[in-house]
Amino acid sequence: MIIVLKENPEQKQLDNLVAWLKSMDMEIHYSQYGSTTIMGIIGETSMVDTELIEALDIVESVKRITEPYKNANRKFHPKDTVIEIGPVKLGGGNFAVIAGPCSIESMDQVCSIAEEVKEAGALLYRGGAFKPRTSPYAFQGMRETGIEFLLEAKRRSGLPVVTEVMDVSHLPLFEEVDVIQVGARNMQNFELLKELGKLDKPILLKRGLSSTISEFLMSAEYIMAGGNHKVILCERGIRTFETAMRNTLDLSCIPLIKSLSHLPIIVDPSHATGIASLVKPMSMAAVAAGADGLMIEVHNDPVHALCDGAQSLTPAAFQDVMNAVMQILPLAYKGETK
Ligand code: PEP
Ligand code: MN
Repeated sequence: MIIVLKENPEQKQLDNLVAWLKSMDMEIHYSQYGSTTIMGIIGETSMVDTELIEALDIVESVKRITEPYKNANRKFHPKDTVIEIGPVKLGGGNFAVIAGPCSIESMDQVCSIAEEVKEAGALLYRGGAFKPRTSPYAFQGMRETGIEFLLEAKRRSGLPVVTEVMDVSHLPLFEEVDVIQVGARNMQNFELLKELGKLDKPILLKRGLSSTISEFLMSAEYIMAGGNHKVILCERGIRTFETAMRNTLDLSCIPLIKSLSHLPIIVDPSHATGIASLVKPMSMAAVAAGADGLMIEVHNDPVHALCDGAQSLTPAAFQDVMNAVMQILPLAYKGETK
């Protein structure tokens, strides 16, 4: 970290700054260019609040030279992380598709879609039991019963399952769930992230609706800082001025995040677009850009789905997407760092 001081800094303020940095075990190197003093700060600078320093009267500017995320940073872990979910591997050249309904609606529904997505080549099964809905009057999910149905679909199909947690207090219900999803709306629920950091279970972390890439990686860092390094990132579209789609799919974040982090990143074209017909082209594009996987919503009867029918594919349409994706996969961008 580099701190540029204003001319003739007040000595007492400077002494306070130096004492504060030293109390955090920072090493300080001074350089003088004319009347400008530059302080080079070496140490665990992720603990230092740059905004606090910037606000000081004696400080002209502050610049980080390393990112504040350590565990998620590729600089310190050059090799791609491979996440193992039962027999499935994701990341480091292992591609996996997660598919299933937005919401679990009944035992029949959840068990039959599982068989169909498995047949089409999905390696992991998704279904929401706790649903984050904009309106409190919309379907909120089947909650505990939904998890039971999902686990039955897991037993029958053999597919590992992914489902979203919305509150720390629900975590005991997730013991047999293979991957715990943190939804976009909870990406910065830091208390939840800290609890998930204590588990030995893969976490699928979705990018917040208005989160920068740096904030996204810092949220992954929260989970990893607690000891759980099994984090899968998921780009699911961000809010922009565009309203023609539900969100704007930020495909450029895939190669960028792969250069910054060793964590696997998948793409959810369903929530990113909100439009079923866009799921195939965006899945193909995501794979071409180097995504480690996809998460796609599939429903047996999208028109009557209790949630997100407009973006849900029929099993037949999902099979068509899988065929297209498998053709693109050998041509996918592999990144500079592999
Ligand atoms: C979901 O995957 O079911 C979901 C609610 O997605 P997001 O958090 O990305 O909106
Ligand atoms: Mn959904």
